[in-house]
Amino acid sequence: MNPLPQPYKPTSPDPAAPSSRPRPAFPVRLAGIGASGPTVRPVSANPSGAMTAARHPAIAAAAASVPTGLGLDSSAVRQAMVVRLAAQGLSHPAVLQALAAVERHRFVDSALVNQAYEDTSLPIGLGQTISKPSVVGRMLELLLEGRDSPLGRVLEIGTGCGYQAALLARLVREVYSLERLRGLHEKARDNLRPLRVHNVHLILGDGMLGYPRGAAYDGIVAAAGGDSIPLTWLDQLAPGGRLVAPAALAPGRQSLIVVDRTAQGFVRTVLEAVHFVPLKSGIA
Ligand code: SAH
Repeated sequence: MNPLPQPYKPTSPDPAAPSSRPRPAFPVRLAGIGASGPTVRPVSANPSGAMTAARHPAIAAAAASVPTGLGLDSSAVRQAMVVRLAAQGLSHPAVLQALAAVERHRFVDSALVNQAYEDTSLPIGLGQTISKPSVVGRMLELLLEGRDSPLGRVLEIGTGCGYQAALLARLVREVYSLERLRGLHEKARDNLRPLRVHNVHLILGDGMLGYPRGAAYDGIVAAAGGDSIPLTWLDQLAPGGRLVAPAALAPGRQSLIVVDRTAQGFVRTVLEAVHFVPLKSGIA
């Protein structure tokens, strides 16, 4: 009989853990920005005529949140990434701040650190990928959209390397993150441990079943998509809550789906085409 999955708190001291794990080297390839410091360059190509990213208040807020001192090189690269993402349309200040703060290069293989701040998905092992930052940002914005107060509990399906969980930890009160592959569950635990986040529970388990022990959730976000949205997720969504997930509602055509649980029932909105890894059942 399988034991019940236990929430893992990466903040709990682990005497067996090495005091620090090897840090990928920086500076990395600087994707078209100057290497000298955390300067925000104006983004001139802005066909919509909207405010340039350099003057965008969210960018100023993101810049203010970036730590200085150690890690300055990577914070400049991250900030440049945020400027590009804002120019592409991301606008939620807290999401941009989180993207500016979380060190994506720590979540990918050391051979890939050069690409960590490009808008590209990257392999994380066991045939899985970390989504590109614009897609992660888009999903987080959808999750937070229309909320005045911070979200309470959020369920993440597909922990992967833990990058999105680290972003969520900055945006919501409590994160329950499920991963079905033990190797990635452990990798995420190792990646998150040095960040000392207090509000992420990593759980090895089948996300198709949700995680009833943490329910009801104010938000559910999935990084893997099946042919439909599992009913268990809808059951575990709190009234007023929102689910953001990919699903292939038509064969071979995966789209981003938003489901709001309103007083009148569930309201589904089908958004743009996306390409997420498949949602699978069972743990492995
Ligand atoms: N948010 C992740 C993205 C990981 S990719 C990150 O930031 O890295 C999607 C993940 O979903 C994969 O790790 C895959 O193993 C996982 N997955 C697929 N089906 C699942 C299921 N039923 N339950 C839990 N995780 C699942």
